[in-house]
Amino acid sequence: MTNVIVVGLGAMGSSAAQQLAERGHRVLGFDLFTPPHNNGSSHGQTRIIRQAYWEDWRYVPLLLRSYELWRRLEADSGHSLLQITGCLAIGHPDGDLVSRSEQSARKFELPHEMLSSAQIRHRYPAFAVRDEMVGHWERNAGYLLVEACVRAQLERAAVAGAELHCDEPVVEWSATPGGGVSVRTAKAHYSADRLVICAGAWAAQVLDSLQLPLTVTRQVAYWFEPRCGIDIFQHGRMPVYLWEAEAGERMLYGFPLVGPPSEGVKVALHGSDEICTPDTVVRQIQPSDELAIRERLAGTLPLLAGRLLRAETCLYTMTPDEHFVIDSHPKYPQVTLAAGFSGHGFKFASVMGEVLGDLALGLTPAYDLALFSLKRWQDRSPSSGETRRRDGSAHHDLEN
Ligand SMILES: Cc1cc2nc3c(=O)[nH]c(=O)nc-3n(C[C@H](O)[C@H](O)[C@H](O)COP(=O)(O)OP(=O)(O)OC[C@H]3O[C@@H](n4cnc5c(N)ncnc54)[C@H](O)[C@@H]3O)c2cc1C
Repeated sequence: MTNVIVVGLGAMGSSAAQQLAERGHRVLGFDLFTPPHNNGSSHGQTRIIRQAYWEDWRYVPLLLRSYELWRRLEADSGHSLLQITGCLAIGHPDGDLVSRSEQSARKFELPHEMLSSAQIRHRYPAFAVRDEMVGHWERNAGYLLVEACVRAQLERAAVAGAELHCDEPVVEWSATPGGGVSVRTAKAHYSADRLVICAGAWAAQVLDSLQLPLTVTRQVAYWFEPRCGIDIFQHGRMPVYLWEAEAGERMLYGFPLVGPPSEGVKVALHGSDEICTPDTVVRQIQPSDELAIRERLAGTLPLLAGRLLRAETCLYTMTPDEHFVIDSHPKYPQVTLAAGFSGHGFKFASVMGEVLGDLALGLTPAYDLALFSLKRWQDRSPSSGETRRRDGSAHHDLEN
């Protein structure tokens, strides 16, 4: 049995805690808040899950496993977490979104279909698709209920014996070459054999000595009351969707109606240039936020743009290439890190728990993780924020 400390119990950390505890290891987890909470990246009702990955086909094997693990979590927890609606990727036939979704679907023989603009308008009347656009329709896609997923992972972790300390921030961690790890929280000191760091938008701070090129951005999600009644936005009449960005725009994405009609239909823009930190982010919705989404809806889903019922801010943690960071610490192999999920990580949380569990235990995960390696920034020299001790260990003080 290995003793493992998990820092951060959001999407990835709760999954790692669950996986490790279910394998019989002693898990001690810490979070700044009580997840699921609204201060990080894992809130706001839903997340899209899909398999025909336009971003890179190398994600697909991870996705296939992630579906199995989400379904297993549903069975074990008794909660419904994953809803299949299909996903429509709308764009130009030769644009990255459509052509690369098609490539991934073909490579892995995923059920899919190409739709003309007329077919899209006929099947899904909410989409005002221009004639020159097409749609890549993927059958095995849908959405996850984000807070319910995190809650279920934490519940399963606790049932398997994990000790979870919420509202107990880790303020310092340290590792000894060839030895164990220890953390200091706001309340006490703890030691273990291994450390898994899943600090989301706080990762740059917690891993400051690595100088990871992470940028945190402010994101806003919106829930609108449609202008035409709710019918064409119901599950069955509308899938989840991604809508390619034109020059100077951001990708649009959204969901069918998920809750009662009074809660509205969710839509959002992917990415933003509003760089912030979890401490400096402007959480209040600004008039410019509503203006930006209404401008985009006018040319895409005009019937959705009725009354704005609700809007919420959330945080992306971006890497320069928008691929994740999943690796062992370059100096301390007993420290595993997961960061930089770049606005598309949630769907992977279930499989990431498995991968992080393997890395933490010194096992080789069953997936090609080269895309997520720290080596892509290996020229950056680790130095600042790390204080050397006489015994060769280093400590990382998060309070400075
Ligand atoms: C608006 C929005 C829409 C998105 N849409 C999608 C989508 O459709 N599909 C998809 O797959 N992904 C999507 N994503 C991305 C996905 O939600 C994130 O990639 C994922 O939630 C990141 O999980 P995480 O565990 O890294 O971060 P989090 O879940 O935020 O967890 C990090 C945790 O670390 C804790 N922590 C930080 N520092 C400390 C410390 N010092 N001590 C203790 N605890 C600490 C925090 O409190 C937090 O709970 C979206 C993200 C946003 C914001």
